[in-house]
Amino acid sequence: MRDKIVAGNWKMNNDLQEGIKLTSEVVNMVQDEVMGNVRIVLGTPFIHLTNVAKMLTESENIFLAAQNCNEHESGAYTGEVSASMLSSVGTDYVILGHSERREYFGETNKQLAAKVDIALGHGLIPIFCCGESLEIREANDHFEFVCQQLTESLFHLDTEAFSKIVIAYEPIWAIGTGKTATSEQAQDMHAKLRTHIAEKYGTSIADDTSILYGGSCKPSNAQELFACPDVDGGLIGGASLKSRDFIDIVKSF
Ligand code: PEP
Repeated sequence: MRDKIVAGNWKMNNDLQEGIKLTSEVVNMVQDEVMGNVRIVLGTPFIHLTNVAKMLTESENIFLAAQNCNEHESGAYTGEVSASMLSSVGTDYVILGHSERREYFGETNKQLAAKVDIALGHGLIPIFCCGESLEIREANDHFEFVCQQLTESLFHLDTEAFSKIVIAYEPIWAIGTGKTATSEQAQDMHAKLRTHIAEKYGTSIADDTSILYGGSCKPSNAQELFACPDVDGGLIGGASLKSRDFIDIVKSF
């Protein structure tokens, strides 16, 4: 059985006080309200991790994610944060390969393969982001493009290592644009990715891999997206900054 996961990606938003307030609202809502068996992940900026980790020690189903890590173990990489540093403060997951990191920081599939390795090596669960631009979709190359992102960044892993990975399909044209993929477009891509994984690792591993959808997911469309058989949750940007919206998305399962 694969995990249902709703992960928030705060991006570069919230100072520490705002992050603490948002976390405490989420923790309280999760305590007070009835919700299904969903793993909730808070993807905070680096500087929030230590504080938020301490706030989550009592919560069984709320986990902590970083939004990136460096691909090297340690050393002269000014301004970077290593996977071992993330683990040392209680981080559970790390979002890797977000399209903003690919676009603005030039991250490549090959570099992401190294980030995935080092994250796994330090006990972090990668939430590996993939997704196509509008141009690629309009050229009808989207399935091939996204499958190749998986092949080049993940398919060097052995079965045991791959079984730890969470995938987030995020069509770039839907991120922060208010333009959500239709449930049919999401389902088609998720099913395609699951088949691609099955061809490499077998159907049992593919069936157990959580594949999240990301891109303008909000309370008004989450239910329809999460009802798709191959959509196992969401990676949520803008709507994760408001506790009520975020928790309403969690409750859409
Ligand atoms: C994201 O950036 O991961 C994302 C899904 O953003 P939004 O929900 O704001 O489209």
